[in-house]
Amino acid sequence: MRLTVLSGGTGTPKLLRGLRELEADFSVIVNTGEDDEILGLYVSPDVDTVLYTLAGIVNDETWYGIKDDGFRGHEFLERLGVDEPLRIGDADRALKQYRTYLMREKGLKLSEAVDEIRRRLGIKWKVYPMTDDRVTTIVETDEGDLHFREFWVERGGKPPVRGVRYEGAEEASPPPDAVDELLRADVVLIGPSNPVTSIGPILSISEIRHIVREKPVVMVSPFIGREPVSGPAGKLMRAVGFEPSVRGLVEYYREWGVEPDVLIMDERDDVELPEGLEVVRTDTLMRDEKDSVRLAREVLRIVEELVG
Ligand code: GDP
Repeated sequence: MRLTVLSGGTGTPKLLRGLRELEADFSVIVNTGEDDEILGLYVSPDVDTVLYTLAGIVNDETWYGIKDDGFRGHEFLERLGVDEPLRIGDADRALKQYRTYLMREKGLKLSEAVDEIRRRLGIKWKVYPMTDDRVTTIVETDEGDLHFREFWVERGGKPPVRGVRYEGAEEASPPPDAVDELLRADVVLIGPSNPVTSIGPILSISEIRHIVREKPVVMVSPFIGREPVSGPAGKLMRAVGFEPSVRGLVEYYREWGVEPDVLIMDERDDVELPEGLEVVRTDTLMRDEKDSVRLAREVLRIVEELVG
């Protein structure tokens, strides 16, 4: 049984931590809509979080960067009077530097550089950036068009949002290996990530979207009631015309032509769903690794039942 997981950089990695513990057979396609260049470094936040998670070294308090990393580089930049718009840890910076080198000096594509780093980190699960082309999630706000980092990190998610678009998505294609992997998958798992800024960008790539539509899909809701567990998913869902709830989630993915064969939602959630959906209710909150393993086990049971 092969599983391909679509992932952003917080909710789904929490679930990947469980799948990793259970040594499940899966691959991951990761959002790159938040990729950026910072002081010459190629930064791919969600890809890095997934790599660090699968290597067992992620900072699982912030779900950004490496556990126990130091910040001497960042602090030294401050001393130089350089304003680095992201607080990049020292070891994290080394990885980003190496990837930038592979891409710029060795001419590797992003997916090739990620695969090289994946192997060097000893990760056995394949990790694919959603594309080697540049697709950028733009948050359209009252203060103008913002990169997601500008919106969320620099402005604390405050500016009123009018819409979201995925710049470059129409011309983008997925890495060929990711397409092969997706075609071979028995089930696509859409993890509990922000629909608008993490999964939407992946589905905005038509080749991926068309394959996902034809596959059995299991979804895990990132919402409990009418709130996301964390982050700006609520505001962004409303901005693109959907309720920030499990019902809005189903309607949102329906717009992309993707229907869940099984939808996993939280047992505390009292939002009513349209008729005819196959729903499993369980505790979807992953406070620690034990929770991640429990939910991952439940996901694997459901996947087994669906295609087993
Ligand atoms: P980002 O790339 O950092 O924005 O992260 P993701 O898009 O992967 O994840 C953000 C989403 O994860 C938010 O919408 C949260 O509601 C959801 N999330 C975070 N932790 C949990 C959790 O423990 N359980 C569930 N069900 N969702 C979670």
